Amino acid sequence: MTSIFKGGCHCGQLRYTCQNEPLSQFFCHCLDCQKSTGSPVAAGFLVTKAATVVEGERRNYTVLADSGKKMTRLFCPECGTHVLEESEGLMGLWIIKAGSLDDASIFQPVRHYWTDSQQKWLKINDDLERVGTQPAFTDLGLDLPNS
Ligand SMILES: [Zn+2]
Ligand SMILES: [Zn+2]
Repeated sequence: MTSIFKGGCHCGQLRYTCQNEPLSQFFCHCLDCQKSTGSPVAAGFLVTKAATVVEGERRNYTVLADSGKKMTRLFCPECGTHVLEESEGLMGLWIIKAGSLDDASIFQPVRHYWTDSQQKWLKINDDLERVGTQPAFTDLGLDLPNS
């Protein structure tokens, strides 16, 4: 992914601009992502909040995620698109939904997470690494507390 990219919600009201390369790019099959997206899998990436400008109105919704950490999902109050997430296990970072990118073709996922809860009818024929449950972001070289 390029180091400067933009995206936002479906109606264009909630927007973000990132000026840094993503720290991680992945698919998540956790049940929490499945419910909140209404889809069998979520595609997302991590960026630092310091390198990201978020503009526009947003509402949020917090749940206790499958990881056991509080997960807050931010969405546009106008069109309802879920664009950003923050986890108490990933302080200082945004998780951004890849489908919200202006040019989502630049997304380069490297892993599947929570494949223990992947829907059996979802057939993904790639050779990316698969992790059964919680992402071990420390394995990615990220120095994050309790992730
Ligand atoms: Zn919107
Ligand atoms: Zn998830």
